[in-house]
Amino acid sequence: MKHYSMRSHLTLTFAIMAMIPILILGSFQVSQITYITQESNRNQQMTTYRLGDAVQDYMYYHRNAVETLAATITASDAAFRTRESLTLKLQSLRENLEGFTGIYVVDPNGSIKAAHTTANNTLIGVNVQDRDYTKRVQAMQKTIVSSLFQGPEGANRPSVAIAVPIYNGNKQTDGFVLAVLDLAPLKALVTKYDYGKEAYPVVLDHAGKPIYHPNAKLTDTLADLSKEPVVVDAFLHKQGEGKYTLSTSAQKELITYKVIPEIDWIVWVSKSNAAVNAAFTESLSITMLLLVITLILTVLLGSYLARRLNGTIHALVGYTQRLAGGSFVALDSKVVPRGAPLELQLLAEHFFRMAEQIKENQGALLQLNSELEERVEERTQRLQDEHATLNAVLESMSDAIVLIDMNQSVVYANHRMAEIFGIPMPELTMMHENTLFERIAVLLPERQEELHKLTAEPSVQEAFTVQTEHGKERFMIVSAFQVARDGRVFGRGYVWRDMTKEHEIDALKNDLISLASHEFKTPITSIRGGVETLLRVDAQWDESFKQELLEGIHEDIGRIQDLIDDWLDISKIESGAMRINPQALRVEVMVGSAMRRLPQQASEAHTQFDVRLAGNLPLVYADKLRLEQVLVNLFTNAVRYNEQHPIIQISAWADERFVHLEVQDNGIGIAAEHVDKLFDRFYRVDVSSSRQTGGTGLGLAICQGIMEAHGGEIHVRSKPGEGSTFILAIPRFRGEEELI
Ligand code: ADP
Repeated sequence: MKHYSMRSHLTLTFAIMAMIPILILGSFQVSQITYITQESNRNQQMTTYRLGDAVQDYMYYHRNAVETLAATITASDAAFRTRESLTLKLQSLRENLEGFTGIYVVDPNGSIKAAHTTANNTLIGVNVQDRDYTKRVQAMQKTIVSSLFQGPEGANRPSVAIAVPIYNGNKQTDGFVLAVLDLAPLKALVTKYDYGKEAYPVVLDHAGKPIYHPNAKLTDTLADLSKEPVVVDAFLHKQGEGKYTLSTSAQKELITYKVIPEIDWIVWVSKSNAAVNAAFTESLSITMLLLVITLILTVLLGSYLARRLNGTIHALVGYTQRLAGGSFVALDSKVVPRGAPLELQLLAEHFFRMAEQIKENQGALLQLNSELEERVEERTQRLQDEHATLNAVLESMSDAIVLIDMNQSVVYANHRMAEIFGIPMPELTMMHENTLFERIAVLLPERQEELHKLTAEPSVQEAFTVQTEHGKERFMIVSAFQVARDGRVFGRGYVWRDMTKEHEIDALKNDLISLASHEFKTPITSIRGGVETLLRVDAQWDESFKQELLEGIHEDIGRIQDLIDDWLDISKIESGAMRINPQALRVEVMVGSAMRRLPQQASEAHTQFDVRLAGNLPLVYADKLRLEQVLVNLFTNAVRYNEQHPIIQISAWADERFVHLEVQDNGIGIAAEHVDKLFDRFYRVDVSSSRQTGGTGLGLAICQGIMEAHGGEIHVRSKPGEGSTFILAIPRFRGEEELI
């Protein structure tokens, strides 16, 4: 929703407030104007009636006077109807009543027989028989008022005449009295009224001719206005008003009219419609102007007041903002200007007091805050320490561990985990559980089902042999478990434990057991047979046979002893318990002593030794018996795996660290695919032949174990049919070692 400023609100409110009285006043003004207009119309009507009454009175008065004269003449004897007598009567009337231009007595033949006029010309004898009024008075036998005419009776000016019949003693008409009216007094009568601006009166006779019209020409020319709609309406309605367009003026006029009874004259007062409208419009526009001025003034005043109020509120808002922003300013006249409303002043004061209080509380709050911060920091530090310890523990573990959250994302993995599965640490910590197991599945293609079980079941343990990145096989036991606290599960954990060593020892144990069952059986059976033979009491054996049996038993016991020795040695090597007792030794002495310790089989084969050792060979630092054991083993193999007359060539050279002793034979040699595995426990190239030759597959493994215990090495170079060369790297005696 859009918010308008306080100023707009106030200005609008002021404008609305101003509009209400303006509208009330305006409508009152309009009704007033309407009333005034109506009043003016009524006035016009009243004037019309007054005018009508005045004309009527004037005409009736003059008619009555003429009628009285006619009655006097009628009442007089014929003898008194002489010109002189009549003229005297006429004169008397004219002198008593103004307004006649001439009064005449017309005889029944239409000839004027007596006259009294202002002019010298008395018109005596003039015949007026053809005049309209003559015909009318003769025909109607009563008083008539003529229509406007021009004639000698009126001294050739437009005139109106009153004709009243006279009777003789026999009640027969004896002509009539003709009184010609002067129009000037009528004009004076008509024009004496105030008709107002742009209004004028009109008087017409019964034939529609203008007795009085502001345009005098119309009277002079005896214009016929009987066809004017206003005249038609007047005769129809007798009195009333209406808007008419007259032939004499082009514009519309408001006319109020009245017909004078008996004489059927029409009087009207006319006002131009434009004038009526102009008055109305003028009055209205003045009102409107006043209203607009009032509105503008109100809005301006409103706006000014709003600005003042707005300014104060703005200052107050700014002040509170500064307080909120932390700048504590004292209350002054800039914040609440003088003349601002009391409520704003109070509001500002409240704000100020509030700010003061806040400032007071702020100190305490800051203190509290810093204490709180210290405590939080302490706790954070403790947590961090705990976390670091925990992390160190997890990182130091030989087990790989990975924790998954409820969204199946890795939340923690130690470096062991990254190392075993060859996944870079940053990648591992961003992994999804599914992606991680897809990667693991690549290393264990045939164990999909178990892997699935691992992720699906709440707590499960599985064993896997994993081919690590370096090509080494590792035997791992993985435990999957739910991470939970107070019965709430947070995620899942996997611990991969490297059990390779344990597994190997286990395998060795099995191997040794199987070795015992196979290799011990033959000599023990043989010993048992020999002893049983010797123990027989029913037979007599000669001394040479007994000797032969005993030698056989001795040989078998020797074999068992060798086996047990080998067994013990390999167990020591595998468990890391192989101890050596080194000393400075001369290589050629060692070789000689080993040659002498060769088993009988070797000596029987007439083994030929070709010893090529330089006299200045450096001393080696080795365990005498163990090194001898290695050499004997190599010599024995050289004889054992030989299908011809065995020749053993012994040579040596030295470098910085080692004396390299080479034992080369002319035996059957070893195929390339076997060379790498030759030093593995129980590894035999050809089991059938080795069984034949009495080997166990432990000899070279023990040799390697002994050499490694010395910090030396053993290698082989061989090709089938070309003999083999075993090279020993024996650490040189450096003179720093403690000599025993
Ligand atoms: P053993 O001789 O008891 O079988 P070794 O560990 O001494 O066990 O030797 C392992 C295998 O290596 C032998 O079975 C044999 O096939 C082969 N071998 C060892 N020495 C030689 C050699 N000098 N010439 C040919 N083959 C040999």
